Amino acid sequence: MSQTTTETGSNLSFILNKPYDVKFEERPKPTIQSPHDVVVAINYTGICGSDVHYWVEGRIGPFVVKDPMVLGHESAGTIVTVGDAVRSLKVGDRVAIEPGFPCRRCEPCLSGHYNLCIDMHFAATPPYDGTLAGFYASPEDFCYKLPESVSLQEGALIEPLAVAVHIVKQAEIKPGQSVVVMGAGPVGLLCCAVAKAYGASKIVSVDIVPSRLEFAASYAATHTFTPERKPAEENAARLLEEVGIPEGADAVIDASGAEPSIQTSIHVVRRGGVYVQGGMGKPDITFPIMTLCTKEVTCKGSFRYGSGDYKLAVELVASKKVDVKKLITGTVKFEDAEQAFKDVKAGTGIKCLIAGPNEKI
Ligand SMILES: [Zn+2]
Ligand SMILES: [Zn+2]
Repeated sequence: MSQTTTETGSNLSFILNKPYDVKFEERPKPTIQSPHDVVVAINYTGICGSDVHYWVEGRIGPFVVKDPMVLGHESAGTIVTVGDAVRSLKVGDRVAIEPGFPCRRCEPCLSGHYNLCIDMHFAATPPYDGTLAGFYASPEDFCYKLPESVSLQEGALIEPLAVAVHIVKQAEIKPGQSVVVMGAGPVGLLCCAVAKAYGASKIVSVDIVPSRLEFAASYAATHTFTPERKPAEENAARLLEEVGIPEGADAVIDASGAEPSIQTSIHVVRRGGVYVQGGMGKPDITFPIMTLCTKEVTCKGSFRYGSGDYKLAVELVASKKVDVKKLITGTVKFEDAEQAFKDVKAGTGIKCLIAGPNEKI
């Protein structure tokens, strides 16, 4: 297959054998499988809850790590190889990598909802290897060129930002509306920032960790709220009173996955409002379904990101409507990758980046 390449450097990879058992291994470099593919040299990778979940438990729901798997899926890098049909990118371009590419043939794909593809090839989701390596091969249309003004470090944050963009789109937020976001982790914070960009006028960040709420207030939230160990209805009533929206919030987003937050959400949303489940926690919970029914709440799930979400995420950063730089609390060398996992698990910092093995920091 004809291609243009400037690929040099190692393909050192950070691999999960089984829970808490990781290794570094020099793996064969990935090659293009189609003339529309590119190979990206990885510069920076962010770590999120799902990566940590595999590291700790070796599985997420039905996805079980059976064979050693390269971790990581939030990456930005530099194009080093292009197939001969590639038109949108050239060697040397800096890109954010959308880490899941769909089959393009199934019903969800053809109806424009490729995030629901029945045959998704998603980085660091068994059996597919992730991006914590020297190089990663991808179809060209799942790599998004970063404008000059956007750094490669910011590029690594496009993935969680695209998650937030998808959630906020599901919430159908309109200018002037009130939005409550449960959870002030990276995705919750980014949901606040995207809701602000969409014109929401009241944005309430809810968490039980005071330092997170302090950050949320300095970032994109107009109000913060700390729930107490009380029934969900009581927390909801106090929240609405403190924020001054007695009729309830137009939209409520759960980015926590925590049962009490989800219960509170349904009591916080207004009659006819929208509730979106973005966080993943326990698979089954007790849910105030009678309230959902009598308030005629529109209740939606949100999974990863789909058509246009990555493009909009890059645009929001380029136009300075969303500042992702503020979320980066540190960068570690590739050799210290496991430390980044420990930090995320311990909840230190907001977003830790791992430099690629060929990146000098
Ligand atoms: Zn992630
Ligand atoms: Zn498909």
